[in-house]
Formats: sequence, structure tokens, C-alpha cells
Amino acid sequence: MRIITTPAELNEYSKEQKKQGKSIGLVPTMGYLHDGHKSLIEKSSAQNDITIVSVFVNPTQFGENEDLDTYPRDLEHDKIVAKDGGANVIFHPTPSDMYPENYGTYVSVDSDITKILCGKSRPTHFMGVTTIVNKLFNISLADRAYFGQKDAQQLAVIMRMVADLNMNIKIIPCPIVREKDGLAMSSRNTYLSASERQEALVLSRSLRQAEDEIKNGETNIEKIKSDIRRTISASNIADIEYIEAYTFPGLMPCSEKLSGQTLFALAIRFGSTRLIDNIIVKP
Ligand code: AMP
Repeated sequence: MRIITTPAELNEYSKEQKKQGKSIGLVPTMGYLHDGHKSLIEKSSAQNDITIVSVFVNPTQFGENEDLDTYPRDLEHDKIVAKDGGANVIFHPTPSDMYPENYGTYVSVDSDITKILCGKSRPTHFMGVTTIVNKLFNISLADRAYFGQKDAQQLAVIMRMVADLNMNIKIIPCPIVREKDGLAMSSRNTYLSASERQEALVLSRSLRQAEDEIKNGETNIEKIKSDIRRTISASNIADIEYIEAYTFPGLMPCSEKLSGQTLFALAIRFGSTRLIDNIIVKP
């Protein structure tokens, strides 16, 4: 597995692969890789000749008072996970490689879909995401790119960007990978204290209950959301940012009754740690 650090070098590498007729899969990440990331890498390796994993803590997607400086980093461990997953390349640029002096171009999906859910508390976040993802697509010449349903709104925003801009890349959604006890894997779980980690199980528990409720025929969206809220509130340290339902992947407001593919999404704070989780269900 090669470690490439500059956009020019990755672009040369990818051109060479393309010349040889090889397909390229891209897995964009911020590193501190876990089994959730690994599942994306494995899927890409199964579907493409070459898999590129980018490891880049992207400053433009962090707000001013967010965790850019403390975001966990461990490139040596990332190399092991990426290699195990079948990656051919880790792309690990510096912030100034990606945003040199005089950098001035941003891509943003100008639609309600970036203003709802996480967009409310993180108003510039998705512009940072769509900008870096665009750059990674252009540099890597990837045929396919892999994104986790863990970040369902991000996935929907990227799908919209690719459709709106007629981008020549296929977006492959990947299911959420969870710890044995149900907690959705996330690099940010490392911020949780042991007791917060235990309390955080209310997220997956509430969503599992909602799934069961829906399987048993419940279609009243307000009822499903209030049941989720009740389960989350059983933890007295859970600070609810939102519990919302939207159509997926369109992210349109839902009618009162469940119909079609629907995202139930949560953002909950435990102390200073903000966790997100979701399910996508059909009636
Ligand atoms: P991140 O490094 O957190 O920016 O995530 C990089 C990619 O991995 C994104 O597409 C995420 O949605 C995906 N991802 C993160 N955690 C999980 C998980 N638990 N299951 C599946 N995909 C995940």
C-alpha cells in the first residue's frame, strides 16, 4: 500500500491507473479508522481494481468552536486498517496542500437540505464537505465513491451535488456498522467517558424500538418521534439537539403518515460530545 501526500502525485498515480484501464474507488475519511470505515474500504476493494482511502481532517467542515484541533488522529493505525481492508493507497495531504494560500473556491448545495438537521447547528459544515469531496473526486479520478449511511444527511447532500453538477462518479451508500452493544461506530466515540459511553446506548436503543414499532404497523410519524424522545430522555445526561424525520434521499419534510423511504435522524449531546445516529425505514 502506497502513502501519497500531494494532490499532484495522487493525480499522476490515478491517471496511470486509468491508462491501464483500471477502475478506481475512493473512500473519503477523516482518519482514526474503525470497522465502519473498514466496511467502506472492503466494499470498494470488492468493486474496483484500485482503492484510494483519503485521510484528511478537513478544516473547512469544522465550525469555529468545534473540535478541529482535538479531532483524534493515528495514521499508523489507519495504515493497518486500510491495508487490511484492501486499500492500495492512503492519500494523506496537509491542510496547505488542499487549501494553499489564495484558495478561494467553495462548492455548496444551496438548498434546504443543507440547512435542516445538522445544518442548523453547523451552518457552514456541508459547504466544507462538498468542497473537499469535489476536490478529492477531481484529484483521484475515481469511478465510485463510498459513503456511510451513518452520516445520512452528508450522503444525501453528496448525492444531490453529484446529480446537480452531472458529476461523472457513482455514489455507493454503505450501511451503519455498530459496536456489539448497538452504539454506531464513530471516531468521536473516543471522547466519551465510560459512563457517557453507557448512556449513549439510548440512541441505538430508541431507533431499534422505532424500527420494531414500524414493523408492527405504526405509521404515525409524530408518535414514532415522541417514542424515540421518551427513550432518549430516560438518560438524564442526554441533551437532545434534534429528533427528526425526512424523506430519504430527498430530505423533504414528511407528511403525518409514514410513506416511502424515511430517515429518522438524531443528534444528541453527552457532555461536550455530540453523537448522531439514524435509521432509514419504509412502512
Ligand atoms: P469520517 O471519517 O467520520 O468523516 O467518516 C468517513 C466515512 O465513513 C463517511 O462516509 C462516514 O459516513 C463513514 N462512516 C463513519 N462511521 C461509520 C459507521 N459506523 N458505519 C458506516 N460508515 C461509517
